[in-house]
Amino acid sequence: MSANFHHRLPQNVPGKFYIIDQCLDCDLCREVAPNNFKRWDEGGYSFVSKQPETPEELNLCLEVVQGCPLNAVGSDGDMHDWATPIHGDEVKPWWKFW
Ligand code: SF4
Repeated sequence: MSANFHHRLPQNVPGKFYIIDQCLDCDLCREVAPNNFKRWDEGGYSFVSKQPETPEELNLCLEVVQGCPLNAVGSDGDMHDWATPIHGDEVKPWWKFW
């Protein structure tokens, strides 16, 4: 199962990678790709602090996607509109039933 973009954390910088609200702060992503993942101390979870800018960083981020024990790291962020409100796909007007 892959991460759901609409559950992304607000601290992620927009781009290909993001972390969702299922992160349990295991530290793996920050160990593997410290250039791109940081800890949000107030919330006790990780977020994407910088999108990869080199092939090496990209590979490490892809490794994190595979390695996160909770599948909390998404890699399809570049296929979404970051202006969409978080959880925005779950709020439908009452007349929109399709
Ligand atoms: S590897 Fe996954 S669960 Fe662990 S800190 Fe990173 S996002 Fe959170």
